Order: sequence, then structure tokens, then C-alpha cells
Amino acid sequence: MRGLEGKVALVTAASSGIGKGVAKVLASEGCRVHISSRDESRLNDAANQIKTETGRHVETTPCDLTKPEDVRRLINEVRKKSGSLDFLIINYGDPKVAPFLDITDDDWDSSINMFLKSTVAMVKSTIPEMIAKGEGRVIFITSLTTKQPLENFAISASLRAAVVSLSKVLSIEYAEKGLTFNSISQGYIMTPRLENIAKRNAEMSRISLEQAYDAIRRTIPAKRFGTPEEIGYLVSFLCSSDAGYINGTNIQVDGGFVKFPY
Ligand code: NAD
Repeated sequence: MRGLEGKVALVTAASSGIGKGVAKVLASEGCRVHISSRDESRLNDAANQIKTETGRHVETTPCDLTKPEDVRRLINEVRKKSGSLDFLIINYGDPKVAPFLDITDDDWDSSINMFLKSTVAMVKSTIPEMIAKGEGRVIFITSLTTKQPLENFAISASLRAAVVSLSKVLSIEYAEKGLTFNSISQGYIMTPRLENIAKRNAEMSRISLEQAYDAIRRTIPAKRFGTPEEIGYLVSFLCSSDAGYINGTNIQVDGGFVKFPY
């Protein structure tokens, strides 16, 4: 992919699943990748695994996205280690999946911190430097719930919709400065989070884990789950110099799950 070699990329929530897959693809394209998530040892394991698979060193900085003050420290740390930040890839931890009345005020507070306040803090501390350079890419990794809200996903559907709208506003305000802002709405991707959801469905419906996976798979036109790397391929394209005119979009990567045509 053109324009990725040597560029500095930060991927948040990247010790497993989608974030780790995105980091691996960017590293294999020649980016200098930083990853963050809450747990330092899981983060180091992920960095070592990416290095084994791509031959590229990956920097790590622990950061809890439910604490916006952590996030500002993270951006400073990336700058200290790499001197700049070209691509900001904001991936998130897992919001609580539960009926609306089982979601506590504390659940809402920590999720608002993660999806909104940390997002704002990261973008605010990153884009002035991008504007000064006249280029930069910001990508928000959201969820199919932005296009197809599902029962038990009140937090995900409502707060991620705000992220997608923020991305659109930012794209309008800073396009002229050479920055692009896009978001991805991924469908079912095979990760530890999907495994947890399938386990929960299996328990609730008293079926086996394989039957729970099958029940989800049947709802996907492609009849398979996506891979974390398939999100990474889109991220690396959106970061490449070939994608400079793609701005303010929300792109589905879901095997055809969302049926709405626009
Ligand atoms: P995952 O459980 O494999 O990975 C989640 C990552 O987030 C881990 O690295 C974890 O350490 C990190 N994390 C969790 N809480 C954090 C916090 N407070 N601060 C910083 N890091 C934190 O899950 P995944 O499937 O890769 O999901 C990534 C994101 O995509 C989540 O927001 C998830 O809800 C969303 N999503 C996933 C799917 C799917 O099918 N896998 C579909 C739609 C949306």
C-alpha cells in the first residue's frame, strides 16, 4: 500500500482481537506501530506476537480508555517515543451487553468516558500536529450497531453513533487542512469478544457453543465470521496515499449483515 512505510500509527485497545489484527497489518505494511490497552503484560504478548509474524518492532503503552487523563498521557508517550503521529486508529474496549434496565449509571459513565471523552481527548491532542504537517488520518473502529441497533446493545448503539457523527463533523472542519476522518462499522469478527457473546447466548438459550456460533453465522449473508486482519486491510487502505479523497465516510465490513442499502 502506498504511503505507509515509516509512518507512525497508534492503535488503541489492541492487545487482542480487532485492534491487534489492525496493528499487525499496519506493521506488515511498514508502519511504526504503537499499541495500547489496559494490561501491560497482555500488551507485551501482543507486541511480541506481531513481531514474530511481521518482523517489525511494536511499541507498547498501557492506557485505560475509561480514563481520559490516561489518554492524554498516551499521546504524549507516543510522541516522545516516535517524534510524531501520522495515523490515529481509535478502537475501543467492549461495552456492557445487557437489557437497558440492567445497565447501571456507573456502566454509562465509564462507557461515556471510553467512547466520547477519551475519543475527544485523543483527537484534540493529536490533530494540531497533523494540521501543522498538512496531513493525517484518523479512523474510528465502531460496530454494526451504528447501522443496525440490536437488543441488549444500548450502550454500543447510542455512543458509537455519536462517534460516527463526530467523525463526520471533523471531516468537514479539517478536510482543507489535509486530514481525513473515517469510521468503520464492522460486523461479526472472530475475536475473544465474539466468543464471550456466543458463550452468553449459549447459556441463555441452553444450547452448545457451536450451536450459538451457528445461530449468529446464519444471520450473515457470507455465512462466515470476519477476521481481525480484514478490518486491518481497510484501515491500511484508508491510511494509504491512495485514499486521500475518502473523507467523512462510514464503511461497513460485515459480510453483508446490514441490509440497509445506503
Ligand atoms: P477483544 O475482546 O478481542 O479486544 C478488546 C480489546 O480492548 C482488548 O485489547 C482489551 O484489552 C481492550 N480493552 C478493553 N477495555 C479497555 C479499556 N477500558 N481501555 C483500553 N483497552 C481496553 O474484542 P474485539 O472483538 O476485538 O472488539 C474490539 C471492539 O470492536 C470492541 O469495542 C467491540 O465491542 C467492537 N466490536 C466487535 C465485534 C466483533 O464481532 N468482534 C463486532 C462489532 C463491534
